[in-house]
Amino acid sequence: MPTPVAGTTITVVGGDARPGLSGVSSDALVAWFAERGEPAYRARQVADAVWRGDATTAADIQTLPAALREGLDEAFRFDTVADTELRLSDGGLTEKGLHRLADGALIESVLMHYPARPGQRERHTLCISSQAGCAVGCPFCATGELGFGRDLETAEIVDQVRHAARRLAADKKRLTNVVFMGMGEPLLNLDRVLAAVDALNDPRRFGLGARHITVSTSGVVPGIRRLTALGPQFTLAVSLHAARDALRDVLVPLNRRWPVAEVVAAAREHAAATGRRVTYEATMIAGINDTELDAQAMADLLRGDHAHVNLIPMNPVAHTPWTASPDPVIEAFAATLAAAGVTATIRRNRGQEIGAACGQLAAERAGEPAPAVVARRRARLVDESAHALRGERSHEPAPAGIGE
Ligand code: SF4
Repeated sequence: MPTPVAGTTITVVGGDARPGLSGVSSDALVAWFAERGEPAYRARQVADAVWRGDATTAADIQTLPAALREGLDEAFRFDTVADTELRLSDGGLTEKGLHRLADGALIESVLMHYPARPGQRERHTLCISSQAGCAVGCPFCATGELGFGRDLETAEIVDQVRHAARRLAADKKRLTNVVFMGMGEPLLNLDRVLAAVDALNDPRRFGLGARHITVSTSGVVPGIRRLTALGPQFTLAVSLHAARDALRDVLVPLNRRWPVAEVVAAAREHAAATGRRVTYEATMIAGINDTELDAQAMADLLRGDHAHVNLIPMNPVAHTPWTASPDPVIEAFAATLAAAGVTATIRRNRGQEIGAACGQLAAERAGEPAPAVVARRRARLVDESAHALRGERSHEPAPAGIGE
């Protein structure tokens, strides 16, 4: 077993229990060297090598004495991503990465390039995963259909960023934004997500400003309250999808545990305490959550709040009976919000920004379910949404494994 490192959690991941170096705090690395009678600048040497991305083992850090290099390799992994398959879409503006981890778990990240426009510099935004799979089970999301695998280690979260930053650096570009909207519910893996944000934010490590980091939640109220107590760490985004409980019970099954009014109340307190605007995301599904009744319900819910709504046409996900709302319907929805003073943006072509498309590559690898399973799932969704549209709450329990 490797020597435990202060400030890190060691979990056996596959056959490799060593924590990833990118998840080890600067102070913990200094302490590791201090235990070996070494000065703090050694930690700086290692951190530089890790964050510049050119060291893949301790042997690459020639400035360290051989015994220290050996000790480092025994104690830590330099990279927690075993391999990555990249797929380009949107004419090269979107790069989907499917990453395999040491235990074979598959996770996804999406790098989105936004060319410069008048008054706006070019941006490169990475959407990352916080869990392998997800317990929440939103039916329009391929990850939700896969179910929960496991929480990611801090370094497994951060290494998605290091990989993308390295690809960008090869083109002399820099990552400008990181959003936790990939696979998983970040607030159900909050300790590690916070440690990852710390690594991304730390000027001695990645050095990305808190305003350039967004963490999304489907509505884990205790997690939102914990973030509020910590003060502003990043932008909070809430996956709202519907303002009526009956419908949200179906679209975001976590709603059966924490109803929408509680979620929005917690987000409102967060905005008031941190002074930071909360963003709400809504996947627009034709004939399901895009009606005038839904627009009015959302307008009533958010009226007067320090909030902004992003409306995103649903990404086609194979095993639902649903399609994206037509553009004019989304525009009418946005107009209803605007009439109530709730600002909204219609996001086009990059549905991944809310995680709706996340999990599609991993789902492909998992294989196509049997036709009878798909048919049952579609029939269940038709039935559940029909009940919801009549205003009937779900009698199904909240998803298992979503914590206290
Ligand atoms: S949309 Fe997010 S919270 Fe819902 S199942 Fe997918 S990954 Fe989980």
